[in-house]
Amino acid sequence: MSAPPAAVDPYTLTREGLAALVAELGEPAYRATQIHGWLVRGVDDPEEMTDLPKALRTTLAARFAPSRPELVAHRVADGGHTHKLLLRFPDGEAIETVLMLYPRRATVCISTQAGCAMGCPFCATGQAGFRRQLTAGEVVRQVMVADAALRSGAIADESLPEGAPDHVTNVVYMGMGEPLANLPATLASVRWLHDPDGFGLSARAITVSTVGLVPGIRKLTALGLPVTLAVSLHAATDELRDELVPINVTHPLAELEEAVRDHRRITNRRVSIEWCLIGDVNDDDRQADALAAIARRLRAHVNVIPMNPTPGVRWKEPSRSRTAAFVARVRDRGVEVTLRDTRGRDADAACGQLLASYSLGAGSRLPAAIGAADRVDRLAAGAADRDVEVAR
Ligand code: SAH
Ligand code: SF4
Repeated sequence: MSAPPAAVDPYTLTREGLAALVAELGEPAYRATQIHGWLVRGVDDPEEMTDLPKALRTTLAARFAPSRPELVAHRVADGGHTHKLLLRFPDGEAIETVLMLYPRRATVCISTQAGCAMGCPFCATGQAGFRRQLTAGEVVRQVMVADAALRSGAIADESLPEGAPDHVTNVVYMGMGEPLANLPATLASVRWLHDPDGFGLSARAITVSTVGLVPGIRKLTALGLPVTLAVSLHAATDELRDELVPINVTHPLAELEEAVRDHRRITNRRVSIEWCLIGDVNDDDRQADALAAIARRLRAHVNVIPMNPTPGVRWKEPSRSRTAAFVARVRDRGVEVTLRDTRGRDADAACGQLLASYSLGAGSRLPAAIGAADRVDRLAAGAADRDVEVAR
């Protein structure tokens, strides 16, 4: 007797994969379109796919192994404009997802790995090391959880910015982990987010941030993935970057710049450069000038983010005057530069910090499905308290 086929997370399947599954089950091809239509709207429980025959729903329930997260903690910062979610998957791994609300934008910052192997010394995630890759489903569900919470009104209250959307409009791969060190999940999740029948997000609305993994950048370029690329530079000389971003030893600045230049040329998409500004480390005039030169060559936009102080990290945030002088110097050299606020600072909400400061307890299960209002009510109950652990 042969073993039963292994269960799969449906979000790891492409449209072709769904078609193959449906064919294997002896079902007509249009069933794949129906299943896709549910998945892309966030419904992954076959029992809720009401246009499928009962027998197929039962078969699919045995074949699908959804990895729905539980909400373990929900912290609210910035007067209700930043919502930090700590989500835990069935195997116990916990990751962070942050929802940031603006007047005309609702941006979710998502994680692609539990931990990170890149070891950047200023980053809380980097300090904790790598634990495991997230699957495509685990990446996509972070967006679905945030979207469901917004659509259901679960986190709406008077503190939301005027005109904040009631659904997710932008996704940034800037949470825990290095997206290009988990390419399969990054590529598959972008496909789901881009799908016109679902979120339908454009390349402008999806940003993938990388520490500078050159082979991954080249792969994105070759595939023409519909995303905006953000490169975490942090240092504009190899000597300093080797220290701040250890992968620079393997892929130094010249190699990185060439890959980014090719990406810009071939995709015709604007690239952004991220610069975490660290007091007395990378906030001097020499770095500003070197950064401006690279940004000009790449015609890139620069985002400067003052470092969020992190426990166990010896560096500190830059002074206000140094920050202003650095930004002005880069701008004076003809570069478009934006000084970003560090969202969520008052709730341990910088990259990796909520997890670092939180000891895990039992959690309540969050919905993956949009419109599962009754289940979202539980999130609403949690959101009613500020700075809460949802389950106690
Ligand atoms: N691994 C990818 C994406 C996740 S990190 C990358 O490095 O680009 C997302 C962003 O958070 C990076 O730009 C990183 O530099 C920034 N970051 C990490 N630790 C920070 C801190 N303590 N203060 C401010 N930004 C930080
Ligand atoms: Fe990893 Fe990005 Fe943190 Fe570096 S900054 S350790 S690449 S998550």
